[in-house]
Amino acid sequence: MEIFMKKKFLKTLCLTALGIFICSTITMAEEITTSAVIPETSTTVISTTDTTVASTTNTPTDATIVKKKPKIKSTIKKISLNKTVLRLNKKDSRSLKALYTDKKKEGIIWVSKNPSIAKVNKKGVVTGKKKGTTYVYCMSKSKKVKAKCKVVVGNFKYMAVTFDDGPSPYTKKLVDSLKKYNYNSTFFVVGQYVTAKKSVLKESFNNGNEIGSHSYDHAKLTSLSESDIKSEFNKTKSVVKSAIGIYPTLIRPPYGSFNDTVSKLADVPMIYWSVDTLDWKNRNVNYVYKEIIKSADKGEIILLHDSHPTSVDGFIKALPELNKKGYELVTVSELFKLNKKNLKPGTMYYNCY
Ligand SMILES: [Zn+2]
Repeated sequence: MEIFMKKKFLKTLCLTALGIFICSTITMAEEITTSAVIPETSTTVISTTDTTVASTTNTPTDATIVKKKPKIKSTIKKISLNKTVLRLNKKDSRSLKALYTDKKKEGIIWVSKNPSIAKVNKKGVVTGKKKGTTYVYCMSKSKKVKAKCKVVVGNFKYMAVTFDDGPSPYTKKLVDSLKKYNYNSTFFVVGQYVTAKKSVLKESFNNGNEIGSHSYDHAKLTSLSESDIKSEFNKTKSVVKSAIGIYPTLIRPPYGSFNDTVSKLADVPMIYWSVDTLDWKNRNVNYVYKEIIKSADKGEIILLHDSHPTSVDGFIKALPELNKKGYELVTVSELFKLNKKNLKPGTMYYNCY
């Protein structure tokens, strides 16, 4: 009985030793195989203590199962650009805006399909090199997510169409139409209407439109005290920042009314207009449409009001024709930048010829 027990004990001991030997052989083979297959990722090879690997690996050759590369985590899930088409002239530069969430700072890269037509820098600024059409891509660093924009380098006439007195119930329709044509405008908003229309304003800004201040309650600034003018500016700055993340970049005083005190208190450039369509007086779609087509020209700053549905519809009616005639609608700030003209805080500008 005792001998039998000793024999059984020895047999178990031998089997255990054999088991350890086989196991350690498998383990070694795994380490060698995985390291050999993916040397560049040897620091991330599946650990030999990984129970999943151990239980599914019966022979050394099965170690090939673990040779697939560990996934490189892409933290950016989606990228979208503010334009599907970017139009510009040779030697001009225009920015594209990429929208994405990047919590772990994966980062993005910009690539031009044909840099001899248009090049792009690491900030998404596109520069026209010669006439033609190409594409610019914005990709996550892992290259798993990307967005593209068609770039047309041609002979375009830059002009700014501006909208006062909103945001209103008609602003959303206007923002959508601008996007459809890959156009941008400057919106001079009345502060007191902003909070109720936060999402439209944010969407408009994300599409590349510019948000300027038109005071808080459409006050005639020249009849106010210095502290009241300050309050009109500051309250509007605060609501705009809460809606889009930045302060208004321009000011248009209501009625175009300003004096030295207004200029002194304005901490951004002030913008008048070169074309008054009188859309607020003539509330007729065809009238507005004709006025826009009649007055369209390089460097103009056209005044409209998105508080009137007739103004919005008249403008939308003019869009295909403006597009066909080679007009490129840009924000006021972009118009000055493209024409290489500086804008100074507190100074009033009337056009950009
Ligand atoms: Zn106004």
